[in-house]
Amino acid sequence: MGSVGKLSLDGVRKSFADTVALDGVSLDIAEGEFFTLVGPSGCGKTTTLRTIAGLESPTDGRVRFDGEDVAGVPTEDRDVGIVFQSYALFPHMTVHENVAYGLNFADPPEGTSVDERVTDLLDLVDLSGMGGREPDRLSGGQQQRVALARALAPEPEILLLDEPMSALDARLRETLRRQIKRIQTELDVTTVYVTHDQEEALAISDRLAVMNDGRVEQVGTPREVYERPATEFVASFVGENNLFRGEVRGTEGTETVVSVDGTEFRVDDGDLAGGDLTFCVRPEDLTVDADTNRFDVAVDTAEFLGETTRYYADWGEQSLVFRSPDPHDTERLTLGFDPDDARVL
Ligand code: ATP
Repeated sequence: MGSVGKLSLDGVRKSFADTVALDGVSLDIAEGEFFTLVGPSGCGKTTTLRTIAGLESPTDGRVRFDGEDVAGVPTEDRDVGIVFQSYALFPHMTVHENVAYGLNFADPPEGTSVDERVTDLLDLVDLSGMGGREPDRLSGGQQQRVALARALAPEPEILLLDEPMSALDARLRETLRRQIKRIQTELDVTTVYVTHDQEEALAISDRLAVMNDGRVEQVGTPREVYERPATEFVASFVGENNLFRGEVRGTEGTETVVSVDGTEFRVDDGDLAGGDLTFCVRPEDLTVDADTNRFDVAVDTAEFLGETTRYYADWGEQSLVFRSPDPHDTERLTLGFDPDDARVL
């Protein structure tokens, strides 16, 4: 059973005393891919990354680089570049010296001197001319780009990024994530990125793994994960969602009739067996005065977000969220959705 990817994890488990941090994680990451691990605090993202780096050894399971088991290979021999949450730059060294430090244990690419390599990297991360500065005279985003340049200096096969933007404010994070994505695409370096921010994960990744409680719930492209969540956890964690729990009452053509608290809805999402069924509808797919699947709600709160307004509304015991570009001043509204926009979980 070999793996085909550049980097693969096969049934990786990791326990710390009586805490199970990873409970059988399997992943297959392709060459040049920007792959993200996303999930709530404590779900095992950092432990997965540290296991790939060789900073933790798995209690069970295999990590393979290019199909080769790397068990027992120390971090410095794994050809990985790592950027952590905290910048971890040396304060008494200049930017140039910090980046050059990345070449202390590895040679620069053939035919390049250390100085040339550092200059090229500072160019790449948009910090040309800043080599003589001390890190404390740089912004947080600039410091993280120095850390990135240092990690990239020896031309690693794999780049590992652990929440590199968590200390930055929202605006700066958006800028830096575009820069990271551009640099990654330019170098075509296989990258594993850890974040708890699902929006960031959707924006930056070729594919992502949604993790929960030491396990991988779903792997897919951002669009697949958003449009076809595999589990209730993924449906709720990635983007906002409305879950409806009901019972199948029968079928009409391609549609399944589902009763939720006495209201019948039609959902069109493949062949569905009888019994209990949960489906979800995204806030942008719940629309005011829709033609189908109509029901009345009481609007609770409206948040004006600029291009759209987010409304929280009560439907019986359930709280729902929907978005609309139009202002709605009334307290009672009729919402509905297209049977095609319901996703069965
Ligand atoms: P966060 O986003 O908060 O960093 P995470 O998804 O990266 O979370 P991990 O740091 O991988 O999660 O931790 C997974 C679980 O393992 C947690 O319950 C954590 O408390 C535990 N854990 C991690 N490292 C250790 C350790 N060295 N000793 C004991 N428990 C640990």
